[in-house]
Amino acid sequence: MSKELLRNIPSVDEVLRSDELTRVRQVYSAALTADATRGALDGLRKDALSGARPDLSLSNIARLVEGRIEALLRPSVMRVVNATGTILHTNIGRAILSEEAQKAVARAGGSVNVELDLATGGRGERDAHVEALIKRLTGAEAACVVNNNAAAVLLTLNTCADGREVVISRGELIEIGGSFRLPEIIKKSGCILKEVGTTNRTHPKDYSGAVTDKTALLFKAHTSNYRVVGFTSGVSLKEIVRIGRNKGVPVVEDLGSGALVDLSSYGLPKEPLVSESIKDGADIVTFSGDKLLGGPQSGIIAGKKEFVDRIRSNPLKRALRADKLTIAGIEATLRLYLDPDKLVDRLPVLRHMTRGLPDIEGAAQKAKGLIKDALGTGYTVEVEDGESVVGGGSLPGHVIPTKVVAITHPTIKPEEIFRRFLGGTPPIIGRVNKDRFLLDLRTVEDAGDVVPG
Ligand SMILES: *Cc1c(COP(=O)(O)O)cnc(C)c1O
Repeated sequence: MSKELLRNIPSVDEVLRSDELTRVRQVYSAALTADATRGALDGLRKDALSGARPDLSLSNIARLVEGRIEALLRPSVMRVVNATGTILHTNIGRAILSEEAQKAVARAGGSVNVELDLATGGRGERDAHVEALIKRLTGAEAACVVNNNAAAVLLTLNTCADGREVVISRGELIEIGGSFRLPEIIKKSGCILKEVGTTNRTHPKDYSGAVTDKTALLFKAHTSNYRVVGFTSGVSLKEIVRIGRNKGVPVVEDLGSGALVDLSSYGLPKEPLVSESIKDGADIVTFSGDKLLGGPQSGIIAGKKEFVDRIRSNPLKRALRADKLTIAGIEATLRLYLDPDKLVDRLPVLRHMTRGLPDIEGAAQKAKGLIKDALGTGYTVEVEDGESVVGGGSLPGHVIPTKVVAITHPTIKPEEIFRRFLGGTPPIIGRVNKDRFLLDLRTVEDAGDVVPG
């Protein structure tokens, strides 16, 4: 049976010469068309061998060939609509860039003066585009930018403590998003981890007692994505700096999110400010550029000039440095902070965190009507109270009241509704919660964006 079918599969040449393939041949190159034809015929052969009865007509084969070429040419990275209720969603690219930053990134696609000193025409320094801004916004003496905060931590540890001991509280040995585990980063940096205290309590004497002539650093990590509650005690950065100064050991803090403005002035819980850590005496502070800061993926290293200079001249810096697109995007983002009054309007992360309920409800009501019309009968579409989170390891445990569009159907499972929205163009990313499919409008600027196409 399958032998007979196999014999009926036309040859590559036959398909390529066929009238059915005329249009494909006209639109796409010969190489692309031949390759897709081979692929389509291979697919049909496999189907036939597995006992299926594929349609072997030339018109169907032409359709398969065209489908293969289109799939090959379609961009894999595409716009999606974030209706998850998580403002900084790691799977969908964390911070949405401001318009200014998006423009700067697009501009940087061309030739830019990333390492060119326009005053002399000679070699420039890529960090120079952002260093003055970071110094101004954080009070640090010097700063540089790398690929992400994981790289910032790795580079800082490797520069300051290669082959020596790094003292850190057991309560701060964090894992972020599965692949960033502080104990592993410390090891990969060439350093020896020296844990002190216990999971829930660490005292100043734990740090001072751990310092020996092998100690290179006292390290403090912001426990970004979790909280230890109950019978706990930690040691403040200020206190660790006091101990470090006494013993002549530098102090590094990994702040994770690293806020540049006080979120409590916007009615949100306070996140530690980079400027406070600098003021409290940290020699180096590291933080992400694409969490609360609201820029492109990057890691910022800020602190004492002596240490930043050493970090900059570590050969690993070359391997971990930020590219021109990132430098342009982070520069444009940092520049927005120079005008705090307009920051909420311009910086999407902050705008979405502080967006008012009536505004979200208005968008949700509009979306409800549009979605009802698009889905047809049988679906129940309601606007309900919901909860958004900041995500990206920022403001753990804090929820922000929001309005969601809840969609249910008597026989269609919420996971199926989730997949239907996911399959749209662009894909609309909602979430399933307690047997309902939810779309959170907090991060959606245009209600029409959550209507499945
Ligand atoms: C997020 C985070 C990191 C990792 O930062 P990336 O920019 O994702 O590499 C490291 N440390 C802390 C405390 C974090 O919150």
